[in-house]
Formats: sequence, C-alpha cells, structure tokens
Amino acid sequence: MRCTKAVIFMKNLQNNISVIRSCIKPATKLCIAVKADAYGHGAVAVATAAVKSGADYLAVATVDEGIELRAGGITCPILMLSLCSPAEIPAVINYTITPFVFDEEYISLYETAARKKGISRFKVFLAVDTGMSRIGCSPEEARSMAEYIQRCPHLKLCGMATHFAVSDSTAAENLKFTEQQFNSFKKAAAFVREAGIDPGILTCSNSAAILLHPEMQLDMVRAGIITYGYYPDQVTENYLREQGVTAPLKPVMALETEVAAVRTLSKGCSVSYGRTWSAAENTTLAVLPLGYADGLLRKYSPGLKISIQGKLYPVRGRICMDQCMVETGSCPQISRWDKAVVFGPAESGALSTADDIAAAAETISYEVLTSISKRVPRVYRD
Ligand SMILES: *Cc1c(COP(=O)(O)O)cnc(C)c1O
Repeated sequence: MRCTKAVIFMKNLQNNISVIRSCIKPATKLCIAVKADAYGHGAVAVATAAVKSGADYLAVATVDEGIELRAGGITCPILMLSLCSPAEIPAVINYTITPFVFDEEYISLYETAARKKGISRFKVFLAVDTGMSRIGCSPEEARSMAEYIQRCPHLKLCGMATHFAVSDSTAAENLKFTEQQFNSFKKAAAFVREAGIDPGILTCSNSAAILLHPEMQLDMVRAGIITYGYYPDQVTENYLREQGVTAPLKPVMALETEVAAVRTLSKGCSVSYGRTWSAAENTTLAVLPLGYADGLLRKYSPGLKISIQGKLYPVRGRICMDQCMVETGSCPQISRWDKAVVFGPAESGALSTADDIAAAAETISYEVLTSISKRVPRVYRD
C-alpha cells in the first residue's frame, strides 16, 4: 500500500458522536451527514460506526452515495439532501432512500415511480426554503405542497426540513437571521398541521446550530462537520469557549506520508514548476510523494507547513500533481522514510489541523477534508 494515506481514528469519531449526543436532548433524533464519502473519511465505515454509536438517520447528497451505503449493509433511514435527476428516481425507491421534495413536478415523478413499483407509502421529506435560497418551497407554500403529497396515494410525508445560511455566526444580524429562519420553519409546520396533516419529523439544525442554538433541535438534528472533529467556524469555537462550553471534538482524519528522498540544494537553486522559490542559502529538501491529485491543493503553497519528527517544515515552490518538496534546513534531523503528517489529531504526530490549513488557504475545513482524493487509501484505526 502507498505510504501516502488518510488514517481514520475511529475512537475520535465515536468521541465526537458522544459529544454531539451530549449536546442534544435524549429524545432528539440524530442524523449524521455522510455525504461526499463521509467528508472524505469513507462513507460505509463511518456510517457503520455512526449507526453503532446511535445515529438514527444518515444523510447523503446523491443517489449513488445512498446505494453505496445500502450495498455496504446499512439498513437505517437515509435522507438525500440534494435533488437527483428523473432517471435516478427508480433507484431512490428501490434502495429506500428518503428524498427532499418541494414542488409538484418533482413530487409527481416520485408518485409515478412508486406507483409503477407498487409501493404504497414511499416516504419523502418536504424541504422548506427559509432563507438559504437553495432548495425548498416557501413557508407559505408548505401547506399546499403537503396537501399535494397527501393526494399522492403512493407517497407519505414523513418529515419537514430547512437549512440555515448563517448559523455558524454570532454576529447580531446573523443571529437574528437564523432566528427568523427558525420561526419561518415553525410557521410552515404549523400551516401543514392546520390542514390536518402530520408534518412528521421536523429538522433544521446543522453542526453550527447544534452547538449554538440548542433550542432549535426540534425532532432531529443533522450533524456534519462536528462528527469529523471540526467546528463549523472559528467563531463558533471561540464563542463557545467564552460561554464556558467546551465540546472536546477531536479530528478524525490524519493525512500522512513519508519522506521519499532527501536532497541537498545549493544556494540559488529554484524548486518546482514556475521557479517561484529559490534557496537563499545551501539547504536540504525532503521530497514527499503527495500532491494536488491527492488533495494537497496548489493553493496551499506558499504557506503550508508539514510535520516531520515533531517539527514543522515549509513546503517550497509549487505543489505538483503527485509530489511536493519541503525545506528541512541546513542541519536536518530528518532521514529518508521518516513519517510526515500534513494534518490530523495530535496522536498522529500532526502539528496542524485541517482548520489550520484551511485558514492559510482562505477556505474551510470542509473543503480540505473533502478534497482528499480517491487515490489516497483510507486506513482505519481504533
Ligand atoms: C451538509 C448538510 C448538513 C450538515 O452540515 P454541517 O455544517 O457539516 O453540519 C446538514 N443539512 C444539510 C441540508 C446539508 O446539506
């Protein structure tokens, strides 16, 4: 196996799920988002562990992701958070994936497909748009959409969902916006009840809302990034610390490799494509066998530092497709085949987290984690 690998610390995953459980009421259902290959951690392995740790639901974005879970032996309910094309709808039904719906055209595609398969009460969630402007009917339309679903003999409304746009922010105007979204969503559910229809499971909270807005849990919360050990936003972590709340989340993934070669570099020599960096003094370089095709994005350099033998060393020059070069200085303690860690929990030997890397590249931990490509084997450790 390649030495470049993503080591998945399953103990930390279990820890994070317990932390999430401790943040929610015992009766609140827990949905774990395992979309995008469980944020890069491996969907089936994470889903299996999540169900074992008490997840009630799992969430995917695509039909293929749902099928992968079913093929991997997952039997719990699976929500599909994004829309799929009409050609995929028979598979959604075959694999008992629960879609988000919100308009008559999309709902009738499910009704037709369920009827053809002879399924009587295929479960759907009604998505309500309360301010994200992504998917969902307006709160005012929720009643007529629920009635429409009710008139479809092969469908059953089993829940309602909305999604927050700024729940990761504690700025006054954003707190107000989230509050308004929450109130609109509750109103939408009330409109549905007024029509004599049970709206089913109500869910609006993502990771940020789970941490910042415990009063918004309703019947189910949808945890994504916190499952994998990261706060949705630096603000959230700081804010919680100020409030005296410490949710000890632990990073789950470590991105590891090893030094493939140690090179000496004379003063004035340039490194990598474009010759963007040259040695000011005689120095040494460690060549690492990972690059942007593994998810070590070009935009991380300059700025990225990688841990080798308990110290951070800077990546020099451009990151290549399959390799990158790290300056190890004039008197390195570093030898060939030493372990190098890009990010991860402390026990991996990492000195950076996905948050540190994200901050330096002006992105978010979500993107750092989901960028780790298929070429990087996932290795699971207790
Ligand atoms: C991805 C997603 C989540 C989880 O988001 P996090 O910020 O990772 O917790 C929840 N709900 C929906 C609709 C999503 O798309």
